[in-house]
Amino acid sequence: MTSDTYTVGDPHRPYVEGCARRQLVFSRCTACREAQLCGYRTCRSCGSRALRDEVSGGRGHIASFTVVHKAASPRFKPIVPFTLALVELDEGFRAMMQLVGSLEPAIGDRVAIDFVADEADGVLPYAERMEETS
Ligand SMILES: [Zn+2]
Repeated sequence: MTSDTYTVGDPHRPYVEGCARRQLVFSRCTACREAQLCGYRTCRSCGSRALRDEVSGGRGHIASFTVVHKAASPRFKPIVPFTLALVELDEGFRAMMQLVGSLEPAIGDRVAIDFVADEADGVLPYAERMEETS
């Protein structure tokens, strides 16, 4: 799924609007095909400005994670400890998000992305471990 190429305006907007629709939107470089998070005006691989929005299928694996025991702000106090995961989506880009359902995941665990509405931050993605079916 694609939409217009953009080179001006807020590069985070497609991501935020995608979350509101419960879709994880990322940028695909039309020059080298590299996938990356929204928020950059140029391709981090080749420097091209020809970025196109695409919607992730919402599946990936845990590339890294950490268990957060001390809240960085009062807002996070009610949920510590929680797991913060660096997820590599199947399209090839990485995104940091909360992993729910497990404090002790393993690198490589498959995850599915879903969304939760938060009063302070709007709609945000989170990851949940999934059982391997293949
Ligand atoms: Zn590129």
